Amino acid sequence: EKQFYNQAAEEKRLNKKVEVKHSNLKRLIQLSRPELPIILAAMVALVFSSLTSLAMPYFFGSIVQVVATTHSFNNLNSSTLGLVIIFVVGSVATLVRSWLFYLAGQKFVARIRRNLFSSIIQQEIGYFDQCRTGELLSRLSSDSQVIQNSVTVNISMLFRYSIQIIGSIILLFITNWRLTLLMLGIVPVLAISTVFYGKKIKQLGKQFQDELAKSSTTGEEVISNIRTVRSFSKEQKFIDLYSKDINGSFLIGKSLAVATGVFSGIVFLVAQLAIVLIVYVGARQVLDGTLSTGDLTSFLLYTLSLAMSLAFISSLMTDFLKAIGSSDRIFEIFDRVPAINVSGGKQIPNPLGEIELKDIEFSYPTRPNNNVLKGLNLKLKKGTITALVGPSGGGKSTVIAMIERFYDPNSGSITFDGVDIKELDPVWYRGIIGYVSQEPVLFAGSIKDNITFGNDSASMDEIISAAEKANAHSFIEEFENGYDTIVGERGVRLSGGQKQRIAIARAMIQNPMILLLDEATSALDAESEYLVKQAIDEIMKDRTVVVIAHRLSTVINANTVVVINQGKIEEMGTHKELLNNPDGTYHNLVKRQLSSDE
Ligand code: ADP
Repeated sequence: EKQFYNQAAEEKRLNKKVEVKHSNLKRLIQLSRPELPIILAAMVALVFSSLTSLAMPYFFGSIVQVVATTHSFNNLNSSTLGLVIIFVVGSVATLVRSWLFYLAGQKFVARIRRNLFSSIIQQEIGYFDQCRTGELLSRLSSDSQVIQNSVTVNISMLFRYSIQIIGSIILLFITNWRLTLLMLGIVPVLAISTVFYGKKIKQLGKQFQDELAKSSTTGEEVISNIRTVRSFSKEQKFIDLYSKDINGSFLIGKSLAVATGVFSGIVFLVAQLAIVLIVYVGARQVLDGTLSTGDLTSFLLYTLSLAMSLAFISSLMTDFLKAIGSSDRIFEIFDRVPAINVSGGKQIPNPLGEIELKDIEFSYPTRPNNNVLKGLNLKLKKGTITALVGPSGGGKSTVIAMIERFYDPNSGSITFDGVDIKELDPVWYRGIIGYVSQEPVLFAGSIKDNITFGNDSASMDEIISAAEKANAHSFIEEFENGYDTIVGERGVRLSGGQKQRIAIARAMIQNPMILLLDEATSALDAESEYLVKQAIDEIMKDRTVVVIAHRLSTVINANTVVVINQGKIEEMGTHKELLNNPDGTYHNLVKRQLSSDE
């Protein structure tokens, strides 16, 4: 009943996770190329540590043999010394290996995250309409976390345990081939139970992740909207909902616990019985005189090392599968070419600043069948104010988004000084457009940072001048840290009017040729309202302005008032002209909707 996300897409995504794509592995390895020197150095250390591990059982065996046969302290001492040397060399090699592989993994994942973030934020706006924020963030954090170790630590471990397995088997054969054959006979039993239970556990694991993802979605939504939840006192409702989701994953977690337990138990039992069998048969050979005590000891230790390596390799395989699944989702983003590039194209040397929308038909990519703009024509002359009015949902904000080139029209064209805006460099084009939204957003940082967002190279004088014109200077000065006051989620809380004035200063310092303005609908207190209005009047001076108007004074001052209804222009003219038509939409609108400024 909770359709917060697209079930089918989600399923497809999760199913993909378990599918192994060799091309992805190859690509991951290619991506780790900058870490190659570190990885190679680590590999050398790894070979050393593997060799010492392989030598260890031999030395243990010889100590036991010394004890059992020669009773000589000299021999015991030299064998023990050999063992100590091997341990020290092995430990140093392990230290180097572990440090270097970890380092390579960290470097790798940091680079992946940087690239991924850069790919994400360069996508066109329509992409963000489709993707859930939580999902994109999870790609950045958990998916890249999963692949962190895949091509560095995991591959090296795979290498390490392979050496160990092959080495152990060879040494086992050398020590006693008959016992080795007997032992290897038990391996298929273990392999079959591993495959069987492995599948079951993987399936349960996937279901578990699905359920967990559901509860995360609930949690994320509730926490980020805590104010609304609180004001409606819906805490208990969401606690229940979350508990229900968690219970779903807990039920699967319970089955998972049983399955893992049974699996470990069976593997353990088979392995122990195998050891008993080997000890029994081996001991008989020792009694027969066909095997020495020392060799039996080495043999048992090699068997243990073999078993451990096999166990590690199987857990590595699951990590690999997960990593390849995650990389699949990461590569999907890497490879996505944005429908609208963020930069590149023409610039116009001495722009006039005239914009024309011709026969614009448009539907949002997420709702292709809902025609939002239906053949819209609009000309914005230099230095004029155009006010967009009309019923909510009529398409006013969409017109602004089209001018910003957040979306491209399905048909028709938008030209700037006669040039299609698709041919213009978006950085340049958006640079000459200023935008002040209804609900201004300030970023974490100082007030100064937020103002210079509009122009990185602005001097302090310019910042102050912009703030003065935006009626923001005096309240900023009153803060203890002035322009260095930190705002944003963890900073000083500003009032709605203050935020708006900072947003206006931010647009002011950009000195845009064209200004897009979404007038706030929410009422401010009279004082604030007056200051914001003054700031807006100031910033509108000498610019081509398009304003989504909610106030009577704005439309009265506009050169042209455009009534947009159901994606079409219904009426156009000055306030006076339009008001003269008592049957017109505008006449009614003024009577009912536009707020007076008294
Ligand atoms: P107005 O600004 O006049 O209130 P809008 O331009 O916001 O109207 O909306 C026009 C239509 O487009 C509405 O039907 C709205 O539901 C739809 N719409 C707006 N934004 C989006 C979006 N990002 N994705 C899909 N549909 C949208």
